[in-house]
Amino acid sequence: MLRLIGRPGGTSVATTSFNQPRQNVYCFNAGVDSRAKVVVLAATLVLGAATASDSHSAPGACAGFPQTPGQIGGIHYRRSPLRHDVVFAGLTGTRLTLEGLVLSTSCKPVKGARIDFWQADTNGHYDDTGTRLRSHQFTDSRGRYHLETILPGPYPGRTRHLHVKVRAPGQQTLTTELYFPGALYNDRDPYFDKRLLVHLAEVHKKLVAGFDFVLVIH
Ligand code: FE
Repeated sequence: MLRLIGRPGGTSVATTSFNQPRQNVYCFNAGVDSRAKVVVLAATLVLGAATASDSHSAPGACAGFPQTPGQIGGIHYRRSPLRHDVVFAGLTGTRLTLEGLVLSTSCKPVKGARIDFWQADTNGHYDDTGTRLRSHQFTDSRGRYHLETILPGPYPGRTRHLHVKVRAPGQQTLTTELYFPGALYNDRDPYFDKRLLVHLAEVHKKLVAGFDFVLVIH
C-alpha cells in the first residue's frame, strides 16, 4: 500500500486495471502499461473517498479529442529553469513522475512544445522567491515530456494540483492545471475540472501520473 501524506480522513487505497474510465486522452499510457507489476490506483486512492464527480467516460481514441481546457494561472507563476527533475535534497513528499504527450487535436505529436510546470510543496506552499518546484522543458521529436517531482499539497481553498503552461511553436499558450483522482478536496475546489484528471498508477512503489495535452494548432 502506498500511503500518501497524512491528512484527516485517512488513506484509502484501491487497485484496479488500466481499464478504469479516464478523462484525458493519454495516448502515452502504452508505455506505462508495458511495465511490470503496474498497480493502478483507483479514484479512491488519494486521501479519502472519491466522489461521483471523479468518474467519467473514456474517450476511446485520441483522434479528434477536444483540446485540453484552460484554467487560471494563479499568482505564483515565475520564470523557471530548464529541467526535467525538480526534486532536490531534503525535499519531502510523495515522489511523482508525470509524463505524457503534447498532441494536436488531430492526434499528431507536437515536438518542441514548451511546457512550464509550477506547484506547491507537500505542505501547500509555493517558492515565490526562488525556483523550487518550478521548471520548463520542451517535448521531444515524438511529442513526449516527463517530469520528476512530488505530489503537490493542497492549500486553503484548493485541492492538489499542478500548474502548467503549454505552448507549441508559434502558437498561443495554454494555461491549465492538472488534478489527481480521489484527492480529498476535489469536490470542494471551485476550479476542479475532471477533464484535467491525470491517469494515476503505482509503478515499482512510485506514483506515475499520465496526461496528454491536446492543443489546437493553427
Ligand atoms: Fe496553485
